[in-house]
Amino acid sequence: MTARKFNFSSGPAVLPEPVLRRAQAALWDLAGSGIGILEHSHRGPEFAAVLDDAEARLRRLANVPDSHAVLFVTGSASQHFYMLPMNFLPPGATVDVVHTGVWSGKAIDEARRHGGPTAVHVAGDASAGGFREIPSTLTWSAAPAYAHYTSNNTIYGTQWRTPPTPPAGVPLMCDASSDFLSRPFDVAAHGLVYAGAQKNLGPSGLTVVLARRDLIADAGKGLSPLLRYQTYAAERSLHNTPNTFAIYVIAEVLAWIEAEGGLAAMAARNQAKAALIYQAIDESDGAFVGHAATDSRSLMNVTFRGRTPALEEGLLAAAEAADCSGLRGHRSVGGLRASIYNAMPRAGCERLAELIRDAVRRA
Ligand code: PMP
Repeated sequence: MTARKFNFSSGPAVLPEPVLRRAQAALWDLAGSGIGILEHSHRGPEFAAVLDDAEARLRRLANVPDSHAVLFVTGSASQHFYMLPMNFLPPGATVDVVHTGVWSGKAIDEARRHGGPTAVHVAGDASAGGFREIPSTLTWSAAPAYAHYTSNNTIYGTQWRTPPTPPAGVPLMCDASSDFLSRPFDVAAHGLVYAGAQKNLGPSGLTVVLARRDLIADAGKGLSPLLRYQTYAAERSLHNTPNTFAIYVIAEVLAWIEAEGGLAAMAARNQAKAALIYQAIDESDGAFVGHAATDSRSLMNVTFRGRTPALEEGLLAAAEAADCSGLRGHRSVGGLRASIYNAMPRAGCERLAELIRDAVRRA
């Protein structure tokens, strides 16, 4: 078998090796049932046990209170850019959005498509600075129906240190796609949290949603069932056939995080991993510079540029030769991006830091 590379891709992304090994075995035979996970009915007892396990682990690990439902919604995070306004933005109402990059921009577009051109109030806007930082001052509208932010901006490598605080009583909705379960997180302070699975959780094609039951109960009445959060809550994500394999892998990833010490341990590890790479960038005497402002730096996506295109290309080539892949930055930012989610081993970050130092020495 070929050796596995360090995969710095932004998503789909690296998964923990023990999880992949268990998934390999479960493809053939799930838990001694004689049937593989891809072949089990979503209504059978074997899959019911998987679903129960995924929900119970998520509740424990992320401290999800009973007030919030755990939903496994087939489809990608982008789908929630329109499901949120469809469910929570009544005619004439306003949503406050903090604009920190491409993904919040899409949330804004979809809210306008649903509610009209005046439906969105931009409560903070990082666009003028090239999305290099998380806005430090926010101005909320008089009575927003809800507020929306993106906890980690995958493309720019910026991350909120703590969630924004909209006025009392305004539900706070979070796109946590690229840092969910990377650190302790106050679910109870949010109305709804959604995270596409393909970064820290498992395969693409599924989004985990944590939603306050009282908010979703009557929201979106009259919509097609699959567009209402309440359908997933009332039918335990089994209104239609869910992405059973993704839910299986997520349950295994959750078990792995628990075994590794939980979210506090993930946070400590992620902090140390990111520091290795940021330090190599900061000590490069300007050969490489970080894209994000220092106090907005992400622990999940490290974005940086070389002083010259040759430095960037040289580092990318050296990285490929050293089995480090997926480092080219997003087309809108350029440069390099190292996505170092929970499952990226520290050794991968050490190797990249060394490659940066080598590139500086060669320059
Ligand atoms: N939100 C964030 C923060 C993301 O990083 C991404 C994808 N990279 C999305 C939303 C969109 O996810 P999807 O492609 O699964 O719709």
